[in-house]
Amino acid sequence: NDLASLLDISVNEIISTCMSLGMFVSINQRLDAEAITIIADEFGYEVEFTKDAEEEVETEVEDSEEDLSERAPIVTIMGHVDHGKTSLLDYIRTSKVTADEAGGITQHIGAYDVTTKDGHKIAFLDTPGHEAFTAMRARGAKITDVAIIVIAADDSIMPQTKEAINHAQVAGVPMIFAINKVDKPNANPDKIKEELANMNLLVEDWGGKYQSQDISAKTGQGVDDLLEKVLLEAEILELKANPDRNAQGTVIEASLDKGRGYVATLMIQTGTLRVGDVMLAGQHYGRVKAMFDHLGKKVKEAGPATPVQVLGLSGAPQAGDIIKVYDTEREAREIANSREQIQREQSIRTKKHITLDEIGRRLAIGSFKELNIIIKGDVDGSVEALSDSLLKLSKDEVGVSIVHKGVGQISESDVLLASASDAIIIGFQVRPSANAKRLAEQEEIEIRHYSIIYDAINQIKDAIEGMLEPEF
Ligand code: GDP
Repeated sequence: NDLASLLDISVNEIISTCMSLGMFVSINQRLDAEAITIIADEFGYEVEFTKDAEEEVETEVEDSEEDLSERAPIVTIMGHVDHGKTSLLDYIRTSKVTADEAGGITQHIGAYDVTTKDGHKIAFLDTPGHEAFTAMRARGAKITDVAIIVIAADDSIMPQTKEAINHAQVAGVPMIFAINKVDKPNANPDKIKEELANMNLLVEDWGGKYQSQDISAKTGQGVDDLLEKVLLEAEILELKANPDRNAQGTVIEASLDKGRGYVATLMIQTGTLRVGDVMLAGQHYGRVKAMFDHLGKKVKEAGPATPVQVLGLSGAPQAGDIIKVYDTEREAREIANSREQIQREQSIRTKKHITLDEIGRRLAIGSFKELNIIIKGDVDGSVEALSDSLLKLSKDEVGVSIVHKGVGQISESDVLLASASDAIIIGFQVRPSANAKRLAEQEEIEIRHYSIIYDAINQIKDAIEGMLEPEF
């Protein structure tokens, strides 16, 4: 998808080119440097890789076997809504964290880790649902070692259960089925196992290879056994990492905190992160000013498979971004700057969504057929008048289509609709709400404000005739 927009061709063309080259790819698949070069060449482009890409490869040091030690598994819980994902995460968190350790309070930082009865550690991603999992995977992050698929024993395998199973299978992540709510009188775990068998997923007690455990996230029944099974799965995977190297991990979430600056939750995957280290994630870098565990307790270092909250980045990276430690601030700054430059260049070349200025360019390369518009206005009369006039601007080459119109402030849902339909938004005597404005910036949705109908009509007319003077 990214390559298609960079080359200004349709995703289908990329996919079919890949197929003709013997590669079967999906829209979100990450292509390697060689594939990108070959595909771009097919379309007459020459690819130049920037320093950043080369640099990434160079610093990829191989750990020798003797440097590696066992690490805890990182687990994601997925399943259908209301089948008990949150309850299970909460039960594990509260039952495995002793009260004095927590000071009675645990924090939601997007991940936590627990120690089982016999002293083994397990890290959990505390963002139930496969959306987070998929979003991270789409960004190339692979942090989940084991997926727990929660299925309510008083229900059936539901669409989202199937989706979760698919996601885990596509990612090659081993699954353990947690058949939940067995405390309920109408619970029927056997029925669930049968449904799984019908999907070719035979559980162990039925002679298959998939581990499953009957549990109740409410009473805690079976949860210890479930954790044992996670550890068993982890043992098979032989998860190892080198704690004695510069840390590398994945951003779980990040935000701006009024008092503390940018706060990011990281899952450390290899190496050990220490206060004072220079870290880089996406385009943001900085020294680790302070670190906290999921109980909010200050820590000085964090090793592999440990979730940790850090302060000190210069901005908020995106979930799924890789975070790495560098020896010098200069190195981190250079890479951050080059990433910023690449992104700036890309965003100039590839506006995510249509803008009036962009229409001329798209017309020139013949990829523009229809302008979608959302109109919001202060009174019904002007909304209707504007909509009628704009519709009349439709020509053979370029159509105008009003995907939504209404009276009132420009809302978040207007922006989401614009994003989904690649539309621009026209505000006639109305402004966006603060949230809508933020979302529009994020989604790169153009919002044009007018207070005179005639101005709106003229500008749109110029745009679809390819005559609009770009505004800089
Ligand atoms: P999620 O949408 O998958 O995160 O599901 P929740 O954890 O929010 O659970 C949905 C509902 O099922 C809530 O009302 C829970 O109290 C209830 N629930 C979850 N697990 C159990 C269980 O083991 N037994 C019973 N009886 N209810 C449960």
